[in-house]
Amino acid sequence: MNQSPVTRALFDEVMTPNYAPAAIVPVRGEGSRLWDQEGRDYIDFAGGIAVSVLGHTHPQLVAALTEQAQKLWHVSNVLVNEPALRLARRLCELTFAERVFFANSGAEANEAALKLARKYAADHGGSDKREIIAFTQSFHGRTLFTVTVGGQPKYTEGFEPLPPGITHVPFNDLAALTAAISDRTCAVILEPVQGEGGVTSATPAFLRGVRELCDRHRALLIFDEVQCGNGRTGHLYAYMGYDVTPDILTTAKGLGGGFPISAMLTTSTIAASLTVGSHGTTYGGNPLACAVAEAALELLSAPSLLAEVRAKHEVFMAGLERLNQRFGVFRELRGKGLLLGCELAEPWRGRSRDFVRAALAEGLLVLVAGPDVVRLAPALIISDPMIEEGLQRFARAIERLTVQTAPTEELAHAAR
Ligand SMILES: *Cc1c(COP(=O)(O)O)cnc(C)c1O
Repeated sequence: MNQSPVTRALFDEVMTPNYAPAAIVPVRGEGSRLWDQEGRDYIDFAGGIAVSVLGHTHPQLVAALTEQAQKLWHVSNVLVNEPALRLARRLCELTFAERVFFANSGAEANEAALKLARKYAADHGGSDKREIIAFTQSFHGRTLFTVTVGGQPKYTEGFEPLPPGITHVPFNDLAALTAAISDRTCAVILEPVQGEGGVTSATPAFLRGVRELCDRHRALLIFDEVQCGNGRTGHLYAYMGYDVTPDILTTAKGLGGGFPISAMLTTSTIAASLTVGSHGTTYGGNPLACAVAEAALELLSAPSLLAEVRAKHEVFMAGLERLNQRFGVFRELRGKGLLLGCELAEPWRGRSRDFVRAALAEGLLVLVAGPDVVRLAPALIISDPMIEEGLQRFARAIERLTVQTAPTEELAHAAR
């Protein structure tokens, strides 16, 4: 076996080129800080794309994982296991759900939800009730079905033919949905807060209106809370903050705090359509994943933690407002809880990736949500001093950008 050290350069030699990872290789994390191969530190406002809700190497998650690792890793779905049963019971206690299906990624949870909606319609005499309505700018995953349901055509280009029976209408536009929905609609799927598409929150009136239209046309309402769930908005699930209950909810990202797991939640009536053998996955409900998620959910569902998320939202917004008073680079600051979007002002539009690069150079990890929005999705337990230090790094990054004409990848942080 080749024992030579691995570097970022090796990515281009041995991995498929569908990502463009940054120039550093992180090797260790603790709370909201990461360290790279050179020992440089980074404050994490990205949270592994809204996944690391409890920061890195949280002691209770490490304990849950290592304890389960000594007991049982995998049994498949021909047997049940204790962590999966406990986690499903807890999810039912904490939400509208009466039944839970576990999978491994957000896309798989959505795939299950969409298949269930079609099956439920078929089981209830709707042989022509096949249509799914989704929204432009939405993101639901990368399987062929979920990527087609997602409202961003750039992600389906070249993958045709695409599954039929999917319509897209503008988000937050109730009139457009009213015109599109009919008795042929089996499901409407949406993110209560669109993440990838630019950090756009549904308006409360829109969500209430969608619920009414779904009821009128007997279409199932699916909330994709893969990104906005698990405490991210300051509510355990975003629907609780809107007081609009879906028929099916999908969750992933933060659910395992960094361990891959997803879940589809629904009612017992709807779940009845998933008859034995109708759907499945080998790893879904894996004991290791469920043990970690059980520990994560206990921490995430604490009212004190959720209140902290709402308080930290204010700390971030005030800090970002201050930055913007100084630099004037943002047109709008938006989001809920700790899912924040900084929409770039006119001269900076299309350059969100330059902000990510500049932030990295100053020792700060941030995300994009499309070309015009810088997205922040830090750990929900990030401390106020860490927020302050991260915002200072962000200020230095923006300063670099505003004095530079051509952005470079030079790592000033390396020199510190
Ligand atoms: C990330 C994301 C997905 C896809 O999740 P994967 O785990 O990457 O399959 C689906 N929906 C939303 C809203 C997401 O943010």
